[in-house]
Amino acid sequence: MQLNKLTIEEAHRGLKNKEFSAVELTEACFDSIRKQDEKLNAFITITEDQALAQAEKVDNKIKNSHQELNILEGIPVALKDNILVEDIKCSAGSKILESYIATYDATVVEKLKAAGSIIVGKTNMDEFAMGSSGETSYFGSTKNPHDLTRVAGGTSSGSTVAVASHEALFALGSDTGGSVRLPASFCGVVGFKPSYGSISRHGLIAMASSFDQIGVLSKTVKDSAYVYEALAGIDKFDSTTRKQKINVFEDIDKDIKGKRIGLPKEFFIEGMDSEVKELVLKAVAKLEALGAEVVEVSLPRTKYALAIYYVLVPAEVSSNMARFDGVRYGYRAESANLLEMYLKTRQQGLGDEVRRRIMLGTYVLSSGYYDAYYKKAQQVRRLIQQDFEDVFKKVDLLLTPTSPTTAFSLGEKFNDPLTMYLADVFTVSVNVAGLPALSLPAGLVNKLPVGVQLIGKQFDESTLFNIAEQLEKKL
Ligand code: GLN
Repeated sequence: MQLNKLTIEEAHRGLKNKEFSAVELTEACFDSIRKQDEKLNAFITITEDQALAQAEKVDNKIKNSHQELNILEGIPVALKDNILVEDIKCSAGSKILESYIATYDATVVEKLKAAGSIIVGKTNMDEFAMGSSGETSYFGSTKNPHDLTRVAGGTSSGSTVAVASHEALFALGSDTGGSVRLPASFCGVVGFKPSYGSISRHGLIAMASSFDQIGVLSKTVKDSAYVYEALAGIDKFDSTTRKQKINVFEDIDKDIKGKRIGLPKEFFIEGMDSEVKELVLKAVAKLEALGAEVVEVSLPRTKYALAIYYVLVPAEVSSNMARFDGVRYGYRAESANLLEMYLKTRQQGLGDEVRRRIMLGTYVLSSGYYDAYYKKAQQVRRLIQQDFEDVFKKVDLLLTPTSPTTAFSLGEKFNDPLTMYLADVFTVSVNVAGLPALSLPAGLVNKLPVGVQLIGKQFDESTLFNIAEQLEKKL
């Protein structure tokens, strides 16, 4: 048995029944990292010593106490390198933070540590989570394990590949416009992004604060559900967290007869790969066979989602990035005076995509343009939320492709930002509206994975997991 290939559920059972130890499970993951990561480039930092020490503690508990074993206890996890772990480097994929050591644990990390999970390392990502392919990282691109000449999808590229290639049993990423779901779709794993306000963002390096959510990469729907239950909830350090129903296991095994699934017609557009479409429609047929009722719906303002995303996100980015100025964190350029130090630090420390967004964001927020761009985009954001609210009066869940294509080639879109932005055309509106969504592997086209996206009502993770779980069993 290759322990690193187990799901969380299977590994938990094995640990509980003493079939293997947490140290053995953790070592299996490090073996896999050693064998593969040079070519995959999923990790920026490996935390082997701390992980093995933690695993030993779990083993002692299993040996010496009769206390119930937590579901995540002893389970190896990889964390995207924009989530702070005390005393461990946190680079956000950027040169400017190459030497930055986090001074505290993110709330999700505190919760994982309390649950007894084993942190195996920090994963590669697009710089400050800006990109769609994993190629903007200062530490080089992460490769797709299904085809090393292709992108893994971004921006949680390393976390996704770590799960897809069994270097960890699950991973955390962040999703501002699709960064958990898109790589999940490209690499053939489950990628879950919770409702905005479900999981604390405290200790997540901010990209666009009103869009960002920490999400889960896992091998199965149930595994994501376990992690969600462990991490969700109010946090006094994140005032946007909300009280909500967290227990999703009550409903997860229920049958889905009579559930109403909406197919938004705006998401089945021309230009979509026909074989991808075919697989997505096959998933729809499976839902019908399970007794769900499938109806066509319309989200008329979808066509504006990408445009307003790329106004509002850069605006928030430009504000959030102001703190990286060479004074407080990380890299500082040699210079003769303070102004030159600011300018050179940001020029040398930040990559092209990050600087492009700072410029775009500063522009749309500047007086004279604010009303035309930023304010207008905020108004359209509200209308897009309204579209979803209207549609969710009629259906329980929406189903769309996660991406119009399978993983593209490394370098293919790198020098063409607009084409790159289009990779997120199906995922961004979910963040615009703050909804929960999950990408589920639906099969392969030319040996490359395809994902279907399920989108739920805000804070109705329960229905989302229930329908995803029932569909997963049939795919
Ligand atoms: N690709 C999108 C962007 O570049 C989404 C990124 C993300 O979700 N972090 O903004």
